[in-house]
Amino acid sequence: MTANLLDFDLESLTGFCERLGEKRFRAVQLFRWIHQKGEADFDAMSDLAKSLREKLKGAAQVKALPVLSQQISSDGTIKWLFDVGGGDAVEAVFIPEDDRGTLCISSQAGCAVGCRFCSTGHQGFSRNLRTGEIIAQLWFAERFLRHHLHSDERVISNVVMMGMGEPLQNYGELLPALRTMLDDHAYGLSRRRVTVSTSGIVPKVDLLSQDCPVALAVSLHAPTDALRDKLVPLNKKYPLAELMAACGRYLEFAPRDFITFEYCMLDGVNDQLEHARQLIDLVQAYGGGRAWCKFNLIPFNPFEQSGLTRSSARQTLAFSRVLSDAGIVTTIRKTRGDDIAAACGQLAGDVMDRTRVGERIARQRTIMLHPVAAHQPTVQET
Ligand code: SAH
Ligand code: SF4
Repeated sequence: MTANLLDFDLESLTGFCERLGEKRFRAVQLFRWIHQKGEADFDAMSDLAKSLREKLKGAAQVKALPVLSQQISSDGTIKWLFDVGGGDAVEAVFIPEDDRGTLCISSQAGCAVGCRFCSTGHQGFSRNLRTGEIIAQLWFAERFLRHHLHSDERVISNVVMMGMGEPLQNYGELLPALRTMLDDHAYGLSRRRVTVSTSGIVPKVDLLSQDCPVALAVSLHAPTDALRDKLVPLNKKYPLAELMAACGRYLEFAPRDFITFEYCMLDGVNDQLEHARQLIDLVQAYGGGRAWCKFNLIPFNPFEQSGLTRSSARQTLAFSRVLSDAGIVTTIRKTRGDDIAAACGQLAGDVMDRTRVGERIARQRTIMLHPVAAHQPTVQET
């Protein structure tokens, strides 16, 4: 079986090249071709010796994920659905803003955590993505966007692990992917521009602080264990006191950073002003008097089976004021890509029925929303 070079961070690519009898600087060259230039064809890697290119052709490939659909929203948000085999598909979303370009990517097909308000959670767990499948989302999106925007410069400045899946339940595959995102010979993203979002797998938060302390977002959603137990079942295993303590430890290894707490606003469930006051008590108990966290209030994106509704804009604003008045930086997430269902927690609808990928391809192809989709480079399988 040929190796997929997207599975390798620079260290393991070096090992791979050494096994082919090549020196480390060859691995660096190869790594740059793949990730900086988005090249998948070994013959196009002009400064590699012909003998090496031949060896690579026999032993390796740069395996992109087949794209099942691409939708471009009127606000510029782009959503891709990637086929990861076995009837599973995962999504990635590009969100352009004035000062940055953020790519939201998936870490698992489905998710085992089962949060009540999340459609990925309702779908259940299928499997972990491999490192190469995580990186393939970034590799493809960066390559597509440069082509699409006629840019030689990097387009994606931020990556957030906020698509489908719980990244810290796929730690072994996640770590080399994060290292590749940060590597100057690959995507060169700064530590603070890569965000891992977690529902709170405490031991893995500690591991990440040691291995690769990128920006951490924690999906809080409730100020008390009683309520969080109901919304995020994992809370029963890692209750708030342990989670908060882990956040504190994390910051010791991520100097000058803060934790972002995500809080999905659910009408009548967790959005009362009393909840905001309880949140203040919670974070003040752990902060040692200093500002160590921010809140990001997410308007709930409803889906049929949840039985939940979105808090009103007015309630969300009042809730955010209580937090801000206590000196906690609080933002309300703008919803983007509404016309293509690209928001948090909406990224599972297309994979509900895993047996019908073919049918879905046919259906999805008809809903490309923007003519520029025609410029999509053909970068499917190599
Ligand atoms: N599993 C990780 C990352 C993926 S979910 C986590 O839970 O953090 C990314 C964010 O979207 C999380 O904060 C999650 O709570 C939120 N989310 C999930 N479903 C949502 C929905 N229906 N509406 C709004 N936000 C949602
Ligand atoms: Fe999984 Fe995150 Fe959805 Fe919870 S919110 S079910 S952890 S993807």
